[in-house]
Amino acid sequence: MHDVIVQSSSYENCREAVDRIFDFFQVDVRGKKVLVKPNALRASKTNQGIVTNPAVVAAIVDKLEELSPAEIIVGDNPGMFSYGANEQTFQESGLMEAAKGYFRNIGLDSVAVDFLPGFADKVNVSRSILEADYFISVPKFKTHGLTVISGAIKNSYGIIPGALKAELHARSGNAQRFHELIVEIFNLRVPDLFIMDAVIGMEGNGPASPDLREIGKILGADNAVALDAVMARMMGLDPAALPFLETAKERGLGDFRDEAINVRGDFAVIPEFKLPPEVNKTAPTSEQSMKFFKSRTRMRPQVDPEKCTACSHCVEQCPVSAISMKDGLPHVDKEACIVCFCCQEVCPEMAITLS
Ligand code: SF4
Ligand code: SF4
Repeated sequence: MHDVIVQSSSYENCREAVDRIFDFFQVDVRGKKVLVKPNALRASKTNQGIVTNPAVVAAIVDKLEELSPAEIIVGDNPGMFSYGANEQTFQESGLMEAAKGYFRNIGLDSVAVDFLPGFADKVNVSRSILEADYFISVPKFKTHGLTVISGAIKNSYGIIPGALKAELHARSGNAQRFHELIVEIFNLRVPDLFIMDAVIGMEGNGPASPDLREIGKILGADNAVALDAVMARMMGLDPAALPFLETAKERGLGDFRDEAINVRGDFAVIPEFKLPPEVNKTAPTSEQSMKFFKSRTRMRPQVDPEKCTACSHCVEQCPVSAISMKDGLPHVDKEACIVCFCCQEVCPEMAITLS
């Protein structure tokens, strides 16, 4: 049986939720190396809600300081991978200040580990992640164009540094294989504790959508499958319809079924939560869900010329070079595009939508 805590919270008092989660799961980090990994998707302002809110990270760091760990590291590998992008992401979003001097660019040192033939024989994982005695994942409550939700399991995609994330994305080739990929990456180092920022969540066309939603909750768990299942339920989704949760269950990583989860606290389904386009607002059947995932493979990114500043980030970050500048605007080669949504993730102007 998995326990998931759902606590009503604001950013001002989120330390109370952090205390409760640490107490409930009897977190003991004395003398341990602790790694705290927020979702630091890309450089963005705190109020855009694209990254884990700094208040939650600050509360976790404050708590850890009281518990005498041997070392605290706060870090992530953002979607952007050019020089200085990691520091810029933390600085601009307020996460650097929240990390209170414990920030480390964990993308600079990695270890090659065995992976899956078919995807890659070896992948590089940030050394700090692999060497942590205790790993705290701090995801954000968000939607995602490809996986519908971006929660606890998807947050671990950031243990892979630099361009390899996009390259693996490219190699996965389709939505179903991407679901398998994120579970296999997650399984390389399963976090010990999850604290999810759902005070302000993201709905609509995540993971970098302008549609924010006041939810007023912090969620805590020691199992990602159960936590993502509760998150899906809060969005009005049937967790069984999410292929990556099914894959994770088959791999023995946890259980998403209601009867396997003890939800403690203030659970409530969010009324009329906006899911990514073409997902039913009420729980879809597995058949509807598969139709949705097939429909994603037909979608292509589209640039809004009113918003685009021609910064070329999308051109630089596309893993298959499917974007080029034409007449001062990015142009997507529809045949070459593998629908990985990396361009949407990195566009600082939110100028890319899916159509
Ligand atoms: S155009 Fe965008 S969605 Fe298509 S492959 Fe490139 S980064 Fe991915
Ligand atoms: S990243 Fe966004 S703003 Fe920059 S060129 Fe691409 S679409 Fe335009």
